[in-house]
Amino acid sequence: MAKGCNEIWKECLQVIKDNVSDQSFKTWFEPISAVKLQENVLTIQVPSQFFYEWLEEHYIDLLKKTIKKKLGTSGRLEYSIVMENNYNNASKPYTVKVPTSDKGGLKNAPISMPIDVNNGAIRNPFIIPGLKRVNVDSQLNPNYSFDNLVEGECNRLARSAGYAVSNKPGGTAFNPLLIYGGVGMGKTHLSHAIGIEIKEKYPEKTVLYVSSEKFTHQFIDSIRNNTHNDFIHFYQMMDVLIIDDVQFFAGKEKTQDAFFHIFNHLHQTGKQIILTSDKSPVELQGFEQRLLSRFKWGLSADLQSPDLETRIAILDKKIYNEGIEIPRDVVEYLAYSISTNVRELEGALISLLAQASLNKKSITLELAKQMIDKFVKNTAREVSIDYIQKIICDYFELPIELLKSKTRKREVVQARQLAMYFAKKMTKSSLATIGMYNGGKDHATVLHACKTVNNLIDTDKRFRASVDEIQKKITI
Ligand code: ADP
Ligand code: MG
Repeated sequence: MAKGCNEIWKECLQVIKDNVSDQSFKTWFEPISAVKLQENVLTIQVPSQFFYEWLEEHYIDLLKKTIKKKLGTSGRLEYSIVMENNYNNASKPYTVKVPTSDKGGLKNAPISMPIDVNNGAIRNPFIIPGLKRVNVDSQLNPNYSFDNLVEGECNRLARSAGYAVSNKPGGTAFNPLLIYGGVGMGKTHLSHAIGIEIKEKYPEKTVLYVSSEKFTHQFIDSIRNNTHNDFIHFYQMMDVLIIDDVQFFAGKEKTQDAFFHIFNHLHQTGKQIILTSDKSPVELQGFEQRLLSRFKWGLSADLQSPDLETRIAILDKKIYNEGIEIPRDVVEYLAYSISTNVRELEGALISLLAQASLNKKSITLELAKQMIDKFVKNTAREVSIDYIQKIICDYFELPIELLKSKTRKREVVQARQLAMYFAKKMTKSSLATIGMYNGGKDHATVLHACKTVNNLIDTDKRFRASVDEIQKKITI
């Protein structure tokens, strides 16, 4: 007798479990249920769009292999996305198909080409044809638009340079445009946004986004298959070439060589080149000098860690796009707790949504705290100065602006001293940084504050009790 969907999915889960961490399994696979198996198509139900995208981005290969193993090469996986949460009664199930077959140029297709959910049309990552000479698929992710890229101090220059480039590709001084910054700062997002914007304004232009890794593999294949010239010509045909994570070219002389020729041709013919890197051109190592100097021809713009307001705005945007509501204090808590990296911030939000929908719980501050504890355990979370200040201001019922101001009002001074004391104790920030955050004081003031607080802890029982209480609030 043929197996039912639950049975097959159970078997799939066994395979998956062996291939992912416990935490990932709990977060991303346990909430999935199988809903149907028909004509070798297994339909699984996932709790949200976010959830689906996360699976697509991180586990698509594993899912594909697993389905192939259990259902054979004709096996297919479909997602049914059902939003179930307490804030949005309108559930919107729809399905996404993921074939496991290797036909249709899968080899050349990106591993995870996120989807376009506008008007319900889902772009299937596996039917994007391989690179062809005519009608090049730009490989752009429509979700990574300028609209969805929240502007902040952290990205203003890069964002506006990118926008300028999109108005006049190849026609500004920003050629190449090199966007650099740490992991999860939005480099890939911004580079897509520029491509999308160009495609919108100049539909006839040939735009291509490619990761440097994929470029390298294509290059190696072209050598092996004796199609090196085709490879070079293909890239020289672009009007706009976006290469993501060029630091990956480090030490790969032959690839750099090929890229050098492509670069020269494009640049000479007024075509736009956009590069991203996790290091500034000055810090890039393992590059030929002639290539490095070309990187510096245009503009290098960096992306920095977003400040608190920007982090909140980013969360708000994602929540809005998702069509859900999350209590204010939870959004703030997430933004306060995860301060380094937008990708982690997003991951935390998705994880929270998954937990809530899995356990049919509403999204509360408590749930967020539990989740953050688990979520950031691996990354050794450091409490941020922002968060310490927030807790202290809540405790003393003071507006945070006062704490950050220079005022010497007694009640503010003590709260500020406590904020400095906890920042010194619980973060790795320098005295100067701590002072800067707390009313622009210098390092000596911070030291003095720590001393004063320590003295009071030793001499004043009530004060000590307050300190303990605040400490608890900060750590739980
Ligand atoms: P990088 O390429 O620098 O590692 P990504 O571009 O992949 O980072 O960004 C990581 C995630 O954070 C993406 O999902 C992206 O959409 C999101 N993100 C980054 N910066 C912003 C921003 N300013 N506004 C909205 N989302 C952002
Ligand atoms: Mg990236």
